[in-house]
Amino acid sequence: MGALEWKGTCVDTGAQYFTARDARFRRHVTSWIQEGIVSRWEATLASVDAPGEIRSVATSLDRYVGTPCMNRLAEHLSTGLNIRRKCEVSGIEKYDGTWRLVHTNKDPDETFDTVIIATPAKQAISLLPSGSEFVSVASGVRMLPCWALMAVFNKTVSLPYDGLFFNSTPLSWAARNNSKPARSTSEIWMLHAANDWTIDNMEADSDEIADTLLESFFHLTDVPRLHPRTVKTRLWPFAAASPALDEECLWSEKEGIGICGDWCANSRIEGAFLSGTAIAGRLLEKVGMQGSKH
Ligand SMILES: Cc1cc2nc3c(=O)[nH]c(=O)nc-3n(C[C@H](O)[C@H](O)[C@H](O)COP(=O)(O)OP(=O)(O)OC[C@H]3O[C@@H](n4cnc5c(N)ncnc54)[C@H](O)[C@@H]3O)c2cc1C
Repeated sequence: MGALEWKGTCVDTGAQYFTARDARFRRHVTSWIQEGIVSRWEATLASVDAPGEIRSVATSLDRYVGTPCMNRLAEHLSTGLNIRRKCEVSGIEKYDGTWRLVHTNKDPDETFDTVIIATPAKQAISLLPSGSEFVSVASGVRMLPCWALMAVFNKTVSLPYDGLFFNSTPLSWAARNNSKPARSTSEIWMLHAANDWTIDNMEADSDEIADTLLESFFHLTDVPRLHPRTVKTRLWPFAAASPALDEECLWSEKEGIGICGDWCANSRIEGAFLSGTAIAGRLLEKVGMQGSKH
């Protein structure tokens, strides 16, 4: 749920919105709305099949965004937790019947009975101790990359839509950031490239990526081209799992290791949340407390 700040407003560069299909997740979403953590995004949506072929998307599915930023939700969920930022864990070592983390912080060594890994599959593999039963499971999950582009315009892009799904490469998605609640009125668009196209262009220069994505956006939507006052690109190396597991989480009481993340359930915020609550349930059961009913 990455974000950039542009003149005091939040621009969501990663996840654009989330949906809530599962009743357990919906209950949480309802309370987050009441607390002002998230809001419904009343977006007008369309899909683009070929240059100039744009169809309105009528959907009864509610879409939600964090306010004033997508990452507000993560901030909210981490309230009261002891989180060490800018600390990269590079390994997990067995130490006297417990686990010790190898990391970049100068903190004194600590040991743990149980370690929960909540990273993309590739990092989970590198963190898992050799011989862990989960190495082969995580190795079967491929994480796909996504180039993202923020473009700030002085004028309004003359499209009657707030979000567009593209079925024509190189793009997969475009959103008018200022159509989301609690953002500034500056005309800012976020474009996402298709995963396959990103794989083919991983090493390309970011200026080249920006030019291609912008050119394609105006060509495919068939609206007059505007020159952005600012562009910023970002490569997301682990944007989506292909395929995600159908497990909710991975748990080994014997090893004292659990794994959660969107790639265990589905490549969405809802999947990540349900995966996290599933692993919390296993942990609570282990320490003799009632398992989570979410
Ligand atoms: C471009 C893009 C668009 C998306 N669009 C949507 C969308 O519209 N709707 C939707 O629902 N979802 C969307 N998603 C997916 C959504 O962002 C993810 O499902 C969700 O963020 C996954 O959460 P997570 O906690 O499982 O993993 P992550 O968000 O990947 O969090 C993993 C964390 O682990 C940290 N980490 C990794 N390795 C280490 C290490 N060695 N040591 C310490 N920390 C480490 C990382 O820094 C990161 O903070 C999108 C994702 C991307 C990239």
